[in-house]
Amino acid sequence: MKKIALLGSTGSIGQSTLSLCESYPDRFHPVTLAAGSNLDVAFAQCVRWRPQLISIATEELATKLTTKLREAGITGIEVVHGTAGTVRVATHPDANFVVSAIVGVAGLEATYAAVLSGKTVGLANKECLVAAGDLILAAARERNVDLLPIDSEHNAIHQCLRGGQPNEVKQIWLTASGGPFRNTPLADFDHITPAQALKHPTWVMGQRITVDSATLLNKGLELIEACRLFNLPPERVRVTVHPQSTIHSLVEFIDGSILAQISVTDMRLPILYALSYPDRIAVEGKTPLTFDLAALSQLDFQPPDFERFPCLRLAYQAAGASQNHCIALNASDEIAVDAFLNGKLPFLGIPRTIEKVLENTPTGSPASIQEVLSADLRARDLARTYLP
Ligand code: NAD
Ligand code: MG
Repeated sequence: MKKIALLGSTGSIGQSTLSLCESYPDRFHPVTLAAGSNLDVAFAQCVRWRPQLISIATEELATKLTTKLREAGITGIEVVHGTAGTVRVATHPDANFVVSAIVGVAGLEATYAAVLSGKTVGLANKECLVAAGDLILAAARERNVDLLPIDSEHNAIHQCLRGGQPNEVKQIWLTASGGPFRNTPLADFDHITPAQALKHPTWVMGQRITVDSATLLNKGLELIEACRLFNLPPERVRVTVHPQSTIHSLVEFIDGSILAQISVTDMRLPILYALSYPDRIAVEGKTPLTFDLAALSQLDFQPPDFERFPCLRLAYQAAGASQNHCIALNASDEIAVDAFLNGKLPFLGIPRTIEKVLENTPTGSPASIQEVLSADLRARDLARTYLP
């Protein structure tokens, strides 16, 4: 039985994970939950799953949740809050598998704590590895902890890598859908609205990652995530635009063979793979996760356009520059996306803000999670100074 500590339980990945717990009650059960500020969903999850411990973003929300639970006659659920709360959720002694799906660096400390406490981690959150990949991977190696990627591209690479040895890998290919503006002329980019950017052609996801998919910054974060996870330099992590999102990524071996992973565009599949690794679980009749190969008619690939999508170029630059630059890339994007969603920054203001922050970021590599968080805060402050 996988006893799951679910970080980000109310989000898109969190809810997909709970849907698998519904489908496979004998195999997967959430024992602790961490939510942000969605009180109603957090309460409903307490009613349904009766976790031993739940963390919510603030003290005020924790008080409200405690009151709601008492009024509903539900006892035995400890309510905690804040970053310290997420760390307790991730390190709970009864949990043996942590799903890391809090969005942004808000998930960093809990994910790191999970690794330090020796728990297997299914990693959806990509910002953790972008900001602190070296530290997290070193801790995982030291403690022999499995870090199983849930991000679909890295999950695909993880699967394909089972077909060869590390020294047989020539390069890996991350597929990108290209987002909703794949064919939009550059001249129209400055009129893009948040509503248009939030309409992803193939995936349903949280707001930030959806906007990041429209700027291709998401692929940039994934490039850095892949460098860390698979120990490859940025020039051996390539990106190809594949609008159908049918192939989730590919590994090219030195003998010319390329292995690809194909499946439905449903995040339950990579989550299920991580939860059941190293085994595979039959999905027939359980969840609509089977892929109809007979109905597949077309697979297209094209090189990414770095001129219309400067965020991807900036990510390659950051990956080649230093860890501080990767932290700044992620932090400045979080600020810029937020401003864009609030109507305070045009779409192309996102890469412009990131570029200015990167230009003013000193080369360096933080030696601890505290230093990562300080560098992250500095980059956020800097990004704010460039907002209109
Ligand atoms: P989401 O916005 O739907 O959910 C985020 C979750 O984090 C929510 O439960 C929210 O309440 C919680 N949260 C936010 N701030 C918090 C805080 N300060 N403390 C505690 N909890 C907090 O996002 P998502 O789409 O589920 O993505 C989660 C992570 O997984 C992101 O890092 C994203 O890049 C990654 N990811 C998502 C997908 C996807 O298909 N959704 C695919 C690949 C990777
Ligand atoms: Mg992805």
